[in-house]
Amino acid sequence: MDFYRQYDSLLSSDELSFVEKARAFCTGAFSDHLLQAHIEGIPFAREWISRWAALGMFGLQAQRDHGGLGASFLCKVRVAQEMAQHGFAAAFCLNHHQGSVTRLSQTGTPAQAQRLLPDALRGERLYTIAMTEPGGGSDAAGMSTIATRVPDGWRLNGSKSWLTDGLIVDGLILLARAANDTADDGVASFYVTLDDAATFSRREIMVPGARSFRLAEITFKDHFIPDWAMIAAPGQALKASMATINAARVHVAAMCVATLRASLAEAVAYCQERHTFGKSLLQHQGLRWELANVATRLEAANALVYRAAELIQRGETPVTLAAQCKAFAVETAIWGVDQCIRAIGATGASSAHRLNMHLAEMRMAAYADGTNEMLFDRIGKGLAADYPLQSAAH
Ligand SMILES: Cc1cc2nc3c(=O)[nH]c(=O)nc-3n(C[C@H](O)[C@H](O)[C@H](O)COP(=O)(O)OP(=O)(O)OC[C@H]3O[C@@H](n4cnc5c(N)ncnc54)[C@H](O)[C@@H]3O)c2cc1C
Repeated sequence: MDFYRQYDSLLSSDELSFVEKARAFCTGAFSDHLLQAHIEGIPFAREWISRWAALGMFGLQAQRDHGGLGASFLCKVRVAQEMAQHGFAAAFCLNHHQGSVTRLSQTGTPAQAQRLLPDALRGERLYTIAMTEPGGGSDAAGMSTIATRVPDGWRLNGSKSWLTDGLIVDGLILLARAANDTADDGVASFYVTLDDAATFSRREIMVPGARSFRLAEITFKDHFIPDWAMIAAPGQALKASMATINAARVHVAAMCVATLRASLAEAVAYCQERHTFGKSLLQHQGLRWELANVATRLEAANALVYRAAELIQRGETPVTLAAQCKAFAVETAIWGVDQCIRAIGATGASSAHRLNMHLAEMRMAAYADGTNEMLFDRIGKGLAADYPLQSAAH
């Protein structure tokens, strides 16, 4: 049974070759390195980001005439899944930058593409989304970072926190409240480059067991943004960022499913080898049923993720399904990885074990792109429209 067959059946032969390339890259030395970095409590080495860039993977969805590979959403999902099987944080970080490159290529102005895209494609300038603030992330409309109009651009003041790759990025897709003489104080978004070290500072946000996210807070003091770097005008940015949120949620959910699948495989292999009371752990019915339960919920999560992913691939906007699949996949993965750890006994509790790394990183997936409370709120708002009584005509 090929867990990813449904996804792969919709990919072109070129896209299948990108997935194959990702699999070859992630298996072996890279995978070993991720675990070693986890054991040492440090982020994975930056050289692996350059190696990934050299494969052209940051341009996976960028337009071909920009030097990208022009792949589809489902291909992006499958490439991310290949990496998430070895380490969720690494997959999440590299895909954050890849998503920014896609955005630059697909919706950037000619000036933005010309100035920013080549470095971004080569991974020489890394980007992340900067929306959350120390005062909160769920209520994006309440942000207090201010961009004030000045000749030829804007001056930025405030702080952004919990930024993926925040320790090493030198580019941001940043949302800020615009302040100007016309009292138009809507939220705008900008490409912000971090070149002038005098006007910004970084602080690592330490998350034990998950330092590969390289989370950081970045504070700005009169940081200049040129006019050409504006993405969405005041009042338009929140709507624009919502346009990509469904795909982002499905993407995270798909990576969670891949991490859980890898965890289950690891637990099963271990339980086949280890013996107690004259038989393998897997032959003890009590333990076998626990892993069977993980397998069943994993399949349910994957079915939900696939259903949402396929709709996004077709250009639809599955708001409810995207929220459902992210909420369910994250909960299932956190619970399921924990079950796998328990199934292999004390070995799984050791920080030297990959399942320990998977659990620490999986727990972080619960916050990105919407917490479960916000997702259930979204699903709840759609209940009447999504689940009406069936009429006789149906
Ligand atoms: C690994 C990781 C990577 C991240 N990467 C980025 C990034 O690259 N860029 C970025 O901008 N942000 C990033 N974030 C931040 C993330 O988006 C926020 O953590 C998230 O939006 C929640 O915001 P908060 O943590 O400030 O919680 P808060 O908004 O303060 O919420 C606290 C709690 O209250 C709940 N809550 C809030 N409002 C409601 C409500 N109306 N009803 C019920 N419950 C509610 C929340 O669900 C949560 O449980 C990242 C976070 C993590 C952990």
